[in-house]
Amino acid sequence: MTWEPVIGLEIHVHLKTRTKMFCRCPVAYFEPPNTQTCPVCLALPGALPVPNRRAVEWTILLGLALGCRIPERAIFHRKNYFYPDNPKGYQISQYDEPLCVEGSFAVPEPDGDALVGIERAHLEEDAAKTIHVGGAEGRIHGADRSLVDFNRGGTPLVEIVTKPDLRSPEEAKRFLQLLRQTVVELGISDAEMEKGSLRFDVNVSVRPAGSDELRTRTELKNMNSFNFAAKGIEREVRRQIDIYESGGRVEQETLHFDPGNESAPPLRSKEEAQDYRYFPEPDLVPLEPERELVERLRAELAELPSARIRRLEREVAFALAEELVTSGRDELYSRIPGGRAAVANVVMNELAALGLDPAAVNAEELGKVIERRGEIPRAAFSEALAESASPGFTADRYLAEAAIADVSELDPVIDRILGANEQQVEAYRGGKEGLLGFFVGQVMKETGGKANPKVVNERLREKLRALSAGEPGRSADGISDGRQGNPATMEERRGSRRDRFVRLAGRGREETAPVALHLGVIAVVGLLVVVILAIPLVLWVVLR
Ligand SMILES: [Zn+2]
Repeated sequence: MTWEPVIGLEIHVHLKTRTKMFCRCPVAYFEPPNTQTCPVCLALPGALPVPNRRAVEWTILLGLALGCRIPERAIFHRKNYFYPDNPKGYQISQYDEPLCVEGSFAVPEPDGDALVGIERAHLEEDAAKTIHVGGAEGRIHGADRSLVDFNRGGTPLVEIVTKPDLRSPEEAKRFLQLLRQTVVELGISDAEMEKGSLRFDVNVSVRPAGSDELRTRTELKNMNSFNFAAKGIEREVRRQIDIYESGGRVEQETLHFDPGNESAPPLRSKEEAQDYRYFPEPDLVPLEPERELVERLRAELAELPSARIRRLEREVAFALAEELVTSGRDELYSRIPGGRAAVANVVMNELAALGLDPAAVNAEELGKVIERRGEIPRAAFSEALAESASPGFTADRYLAEAAIADVSELDPVIDRILGANEQQVEAYRGGKEGLLGFFVGQVMKETGGKANPKVVNERLREKLRALSAGEPGRSADGISDGRQGNPATMEERRGSRRDRFVRLAGRGREETAPVALHLGVIAVVGLLVVVILAIPLVLWVVLR
């Protein structure tokens, strides 16, 4: 039988309001423990909660981004449970009348959008933080005591519950990445998993492919990265399939995912709603969001990440478009002119690695540098990227270092150098191939270091090989490429090229006669004269 995963998510997002949900204590996680508290968030008797207006507005804003309907009335409920980090004995949350309902969130995929239903998004207060001491890595197992920090107690938290519409671990990961980016862009949360400002639980079940039944699900908790979530879901899907295929039954339970040891030990059996004995919070009046407020918030929504992925997909590959948007780098990408794929790759690789503030990058100037990347020495290109967010950054400085890779400019120089170094050419032909470095050095010297070494190497090898083979039509300063046009034009071209080269290199040199050649001829002739004169002398001495 083929099985189909059925995945739903519950995501908790910490709102970055200035104060807590029902009191005026600052939201500050990294202050000394238990310094950001008051009678309300410590649950002292008689203290009364007052809702945070901004938290309510931001929840509605998020709901609108998730395509939710905002009902005319929402109420807070008490969710009763006892836990050391929950001093009231209940949490103020929302139950059957939340702020946002019936949403739908499009997740772009390579072959179309996956539509994920949003059951609800509601507002609640977070619990305090329990710190387990004495055990390994702050875990409760093996700890000898536990401490509670109430700074986090009562901070505003939005819980988003999806319908079980996700069909694969990858789809779940995509959804989470996109949701995270949406939340960050709305400016309502840092949504950082390391800080705990974005947390999520995953509900997983499986069913025969094609059926629409919903079987018993298990809940994976403690997911701290999108990759771990995908991994955990994959493993849980496999586990459930194995159980069904061996005739067993999946128990409803909460599993604690531990990415380190590849296992998900059961945490506790999952509570049912009735276990919490929800009832309306008697200390708070119902919320009735005004329609004008809802419409004003709706108007605040900019183009959402999912829509931008679809738009960018027309310029670059889907994977790149998705990466640009979910990393929040697409705004920078859009500002940099030039070839789209080249720009996207630089933005996602080199620039991302540098960790520069995308908003500070001078996109116009950087575009010029990227455009001529192939001609600029690697070091200069890296330097340009590193400087691209500094004030006063201009492309000129780096473009000036563009290497001469144009063969028509380099050839005359190479020919001249070969002509002026006959002895070395001879030695090279005699097998001293190490001399190639000498010739490259000479070319670099003559061009003021601006020649592209790779091209110079190639041309030198080619020319030296041709010289060895004794190809005709090659003079010391000749152009090797015989395929060029008529000689007159060629001469003209050569002249203009040389002028241009001299200008580029900042210095030129008059062509000199190959002195070495002259000296060699004189030496050989001299030797012959000496030998011819010596023969009669030797004969006379021997015969006498
Ligand atoms: Zn407080």
